[in-house]
Amino acid sequence: MIEYAESKVQAQAAARNAIQSMKQFGITPNPNNFAVWYIHHSNRLPDLSREIERLIKLGSDFGPPIIQALHDKYVTQANESKTLAAAGMRIENTLEQLLKMFQIANRGTESYGATLADLSDQVGGANGETLHEIVASVVAETQKMLRVNRKLGTELTQSSQQIARLREDLEQVRTEASTDGLTGVANRKVFDNVMGEATRHAADTGSHLSLLMLDIDLFKQFNDTHGHQMGDQVLKLVARTIQSCVRPEDTVARYGGEEFAAILPAASRREAADVAERIRTTVASKRITNRRSGTELGRITLSIGISEYAIGESVGDMVQRADQALYLAKRMGRNRVVTQSELEKSGIL
Ligand code: GH3
Ligand code: MG
Ligand code: MG
Repeated sequence: MIEYAESKVQAQAAARNAIQSMKQFGITPNPNNFAVWYIHHSNRLPDLSREIERLIKLGSDFGPPIIQALHDKYVTQANESKTLAAAGMRIENTLEQLLKMFQIANRGTESYGATLADLSDQVGGANGETLHEIVASVVAETQKMLRVNRKLGTELTQSSQQIARLREDLEQVRTEASTDGLTGVANRKVFDNVMGEATRHAADTGSHLSLLMLDIDLFKQFNDTHGHQMGDQVLKLVARTIQSCVRPEDTVARYGGEEFAAILPAASRREAADVAERIRTTVASKRITNRRSGTELGRITLSIGISEYAIGESVGDMVQRADQALYLAKRMGRNRVVTQSELEKSGIL
């Protein structure tokens, strides 16, 4: 859950403003919509506020899909990072418990050693009766020690099992927070992060950085003809194919509905164009069949736009150029790759 740190007065103001905004934009005041507008008016997520202000400026209608997208992108994601923090806390607690057990065990060993030393001092000059008592004491102390050790052993096993489970949970939360649920490639959030990092690196080192924007051609028609489920299968196939054509250090992401992006660090225009061409031909060569009925559903093609990083520009500039190249590829008849050089020649840039 998101923690709300506002004072009562601040919270009342944010809630009032949220309700007023929802009225102003004709939005149904349900809890999801309210959460988005409350967070906006409490200024706790500047990125969300910026996006809402941008949408207001554009005269957006704030219909259910837009609010849903804002909710998924900002509210749900804030919750995911809380889950991560909670899992981290649980690991810390387990480790603390373990540490305590070790300290107890250590104290046990020390007192065992002290008792033995004490008893051995008494052995010299002891008669049969006393010796008997000494041996009985040693046995009792040793049994106590064994009990402590056994308890420690059980605790250790339980703790390590618990840690293993926590690690799996954590791994799963991490994966879910960073991948697209349908296709398994990186999601938009990872795309934004990686692009930020990659452009900074390219600016610092002067190395190449290329971006591919890939969009499935006439996909609406495919969905209309063969159904959304077959469409989803195609999205998975396309994602797999793109992934298989790039290097491990490249990042493939689902940018939006049927649009993908590939970030290729250290790749020049030429190299990026080769990769794009390989992806295009590989996808175009696949036969799409309905596994259940065995019928062939025809071919799928991609249009691809490429941009190359220019020092000093923003991530947005670079994405926009790749988008323009993609748009040109569509206008030129689809199923083709358009590079930045062609964009420059076309006079668009
Ligand atoms: P163009 O060649 O110009 O890109 O044409 P298009 O039909 O691909 O483009 P348009 O933007 O008109 O339609 C995109 C379609 O992609 C509409 C939508 O149904 C489909 N789509 C988006 N996301 C998904 C998804 O997750 N699953 C499925 N099955 N279809 C999706
Ligand atoms: Mg399309
Ligand atoms: Mg599209």
